[in-house]
Amino acid sequence: TQTQFFRDTWAEINLDHLYENVKNIKGHIPDDVNVFAVVKANAYGHGDVQTSLTALAAGAHGLAVAFLDEAISLRRGGIAAPILVLGATRPKDVKIASQLDISLTVFHKEWLVEAEKQLSKEDHLRLHIKCDTGMGRIGVRTSEELKSIEGYIHSHPKFELQGIFTHFATADELNDDYLEEQLRRFEYMLQQLESLPAYIHSSNSAATLRKTNTLFNAVRVGIAMYGLTPSIEMKPELPFPLKEVFSLHSRLIHTKELEAGEKVSYGATYEASESEWIGTIPIGYADGWLRKLQGQDVLVDGKRVPIVGRICMDQCMVRLPESRPIGTRVTLIGKQVEAAITMDEIAQKLDTINYEIPCIISTRVPRIYI
Ligand code: PLP
Repeated sequence: TQTQFFRDTWAEINLDHLYENVKNIKGHIPDDVNVFAVVKANAYGHGDVQTSLTALAAGAHGLAVAFLDEAISLRRGGIAAPILVLGATRPKDVKIASQLDISLTVFHKEWLVEAEKQLSKEDHLRLHIKCDTGMGRIGVRTSEELKSIEGYIHSHPKFELQGIFTHFATADELNDDYLEEQLRRFEYMLQQLESLPAYIHSSNSAATLRKTNTLFNAVRVGIAMYGLTPSIEMKPELPFPLKEVFSLHSRLIHTKELEAGEKVSYGATYEASESEWIGTIPIGYADGWLRKLQGQDVLVDGKRVPIVGRICMDQCMVRLPESRPIGTRVTLIGKQVEAAITMDEIAQKLDTINYEIPCIISTRVPRIYI
């Protein structure tokens, strides 16, 4: 982890908020339902190890990531909790998963045959079977496939069937028809098993917050832990307030007074209509502050001011109501005094979902843990 940085742009990760969100999620579900904190993609851009340690301290039982590399990064970061890789792993890479006690996802019988060849007698590999009940991404779709995978695992002692799961496509929508159909298919799959494994899980954040009949004995919670609502339509339905964990800040590194008619940035598309104070901040599209955010407000002294002119690779300009000193704090996502710019506001400006925003703020922006 980088502890020192030399630029005036940073993201603040509020671990107290993360802790509170996990506690509230735990309090919302029965005690015997385990929470797997979803920390793939560097914990949705928040920092994998720090996020994981906080989530575990708040009562998460284990962690889930998308790729084996992400699980290895957590183990190398000193994390001993259960870790599940949700995505596909190449059979040739299973040895290291077994050595580091990382649980993998399986959905092909042939994968097991190949994986078995990589493991010696003493090796032990924990597996979760993924069922595709309507997401159409990865997973077994028929009871025949399921049974042949279960049979193979049970007859090969190197393998342990530790879990079975599915993923909902529409849990963040208020109409539950499709989700209930997926749930019905998952329950049918469970009935086909000879014996139930230790972990049965289907719910992401949306289902965990909205439903009680999808919880089984484990849930996989990502976005809500970061204080973000899975969809705009769920906002009025939240069982408790979520606290945003990620905020983004910079500082004025230069200011000047332009006269009417003077221009700003590439293409000289912005023209001062009167005498105007323009400030420069050191963040640009290479930081994930995309060019489409031209015109977006930022906060200075607790007030909204607009980004003017095109956003450059490393810098952009804002129109200030008056002269402000170099070093003045600029908040691009987060709160200043009474004013707030939420992740959802930035997502809407970019025609996307809040999930994408912390993920695209690049690693060039240091994450500071508060
Ligand atoms: N489970 C799986 C399989 C996922 O792919 C994801 C994330 O996309 C999650 C759980 C967590 O979802 P959410 O962030 O909506 O809680």
